[in-house]
Amino acid sequence: MMQKLNGKVAIVTGATSGIGEATAYALASEGAVVAITGRRVERLEQVKNKIVETGGVAITVCGDVQNEQDAVRMVEEAYSHSGRLDILVNNAGVMLLGPILDASTEDWRRMINTNLLGLMYTTHAALKYMVKMESGHIVNISSTAGRTVRASAGVYNATKWGVGAFSEALRQEVHGKNIRVTIIEPGLVETELRDHITHESTKSAINKMADEIRQLKSEDIANSIVYALKQPDHVNVNEILIRPTDQLL
Ligand code: NDP
Repeated sequence: MMQKLNGKVAIVTGATSGIGEATAYALASEGAVVAITGRRVERLEQVKNKIVETGGVAITVCGDVQNEQDAVRMVEEAYSHSGRLDILVNNAGVMLLGPILDASTEDWRRMINTNLLGLMYTTHAALKYMVKMESGHIVNISSTAGRTVRASAGVYNATKWGVGAFSEALRQEVHGKNIRVTIIEPGLVETELRDHITHESTKSAINKMADEIRQLKSEDIANSIVYALKQPDHVNVNEILIRPTDQLL
């Protein structure tokens, strides 16, 4: 039987837009208390208000996952709401595509510090509560870029490959502790992600590719996360790869 998320506490990193925002709404509508996190304070308040208007419960925690102290504080504030932490969705990410030769190495640091180290910091902080509770579920957002390399995506590929490796090691380490680990690997989703690319010709090329296909919606990914979370305790959905029907690689 599918499980309800009533009474569970979930933290969603990067819940101010796109996949994280849609996931926050989906988890709240399933009855979870959702801690929504991100750097944009006004967006956090907007997302919270939308959840509260529809009868859900949300708390906002502003912070930057690149900063370990912020990451730890986000997790602690989520836990302290009701003395439990059931779900961590590690979604915060940036995709600053571009060729290696022309790269701004600052873009590389932002991707590695956010997509990889940020996810590691929150996982590290959340795990101790989940181990204490003898239950929990960590959902890490990777990408098709965690499985398929493309020129101009080398560092983004490296971060998402890293998410896959870290998640599998985590799964093995928490095996026997009633903690589940899921990797979600979306293809192209219509969000703000591409807006931040600083290398202009790469940005135009990926926007053109996206315009030519029917992209996924953030809600499509949120649905796959809810699917994994609502399985019975003995079912650990380890990996979901989800592409637009029109996307080849
Ligand atoms: P968005 O740009 O819409 O959302 C990214 C979210 O991450 C925002 O809420 C942003 O919040 C947050 N974020 C970024 N940097 C930080 C930071 N340093 N600290 C805290 N939060 C941060 O993009 P998506 O919804 O598309 O991206 C979500 C995830 O999905 C990413 O991990 C991305 O790699 C992955 N993904 C996306 C795909 C796509 O095609 N869109 C495909 C495959 C995977 P704020 O700016 O307020 O801090």
